Amino acid sequence: MTDIALRTDNLSRDFASASGTIRAVNGLSLEVEAGTIFGFLGPNGAGKTTTIRLLLGLLEPSAGRAEVLGFDTKTQADAVRTRTGALLEHSGIYEQLSAEDNLEFYGRVWGLPADNRRARIEELLTQMGLWERRKDRAGTWSEGMQQKLALARALLHRPALVLLDEPTAGLDVPSAAAVRDDLVDLATREGVTVFLTTHNMAEAERLCSRVGVIRQGKLVAVGSPDELRARTGGPRVEVFGRGFGAEALAQLRARPEVAEVDANNGHVVIDLRHEADAAPLVSLLVGAGVEVEEVRRGKASLEEVFMTLMEEAR
Ligand code: ATP
Repeated sequence: MTDIALRTDNLSRDFASASGTIRAVNGLSLEVEAGTIFGFLGPNGAGKTTTIRLLLGLLEPSAGRAEVLGFDTKTQADAVRTRTGALLEHSGIYEQLSAEDNLEFYGRVWGLPADNRRARIEELLTQMGLWERRKDRAGTWSEGMQQKLALARALLHRPALVLLDEPTAGLDVPSAAAVRDDLVDLATREGVTVFLTTHNMAEAERLCSRVGVIRQGKLVAVGSPDELRARTGGPRVEVFGRGFGAEALAQLRARPEVAEVDANNGHVVIDLRHEADAAPLVSLLVGAGVEVEEVRRGKASLEEVFMTLMEEAR
């Protein structure tokens, strides 16, 4: 039996606003397996942050329920919060304190014994490459360093589940990569379940074994990146070369296995209706006078899948 770290059942949350009632989360039913990284994707205002706040018991559901690590988020919110780590918009870092003192403070809040606390702080700051700078005031650190410190804070008490709202937003490429490595390490080595929101499709693709896509509060798709690709787009062949004339492209489009052809500057993307041999397509192109340089089997990026899902949900 797989262990389920969190489960929502028809979870909904309304907000009153000047423009009427907004259903920010609408009938969300979702399960996330323990020890996996789940990515929650959606456009601005889709309901991602509201979902995290519901999962932490910081907001009460208007309807439905959520269970986190076996605890009901409405009636057992304290139990949920002591076992989870969260990174929300407000990082919880005190700028006037040193990095080390920040973690020391939170370690005390969590009731970690002194030895254990010091060892854990050293472990986390070392892992994140921040140990040498631990005496600096946190407010003097760069945005990326502060974000890593906030992540260290969320992980301090060794939670079984972390809920992270855009953990790499605003980070430079190496810092974002380092945070991603830390998250993968957490899930694979320590069995921590990671639930994160992101706008970065490449990040979701790299990190997440499953992703959920939310739009206007509703879950429009859930599955592994490969499953979503299979749902929204079939296999594809990419051809690089010269001389893709109108006639060659028309012949390609007339083939029964070809769904769509997109030609652009010596690069043609052929979306197929189903798995099919690429050789006849290449022969056709060569026969029509194209100088073929390279042929690749491709797949749609998660970004394209996301765009298709958003279109479909309209
Ligand atoms: P983003 O990617 O922009 O951070 P999001 O998916 O996290 O967006 P939410 O912050 O969950 O979206 O917001 C979902 C909807 O709920 C929005 O329409 C927002 O205006 C509304 N909302 C969220 N919190 C409140 C609140 N406290 N009061 C009123 N409306 C709210």
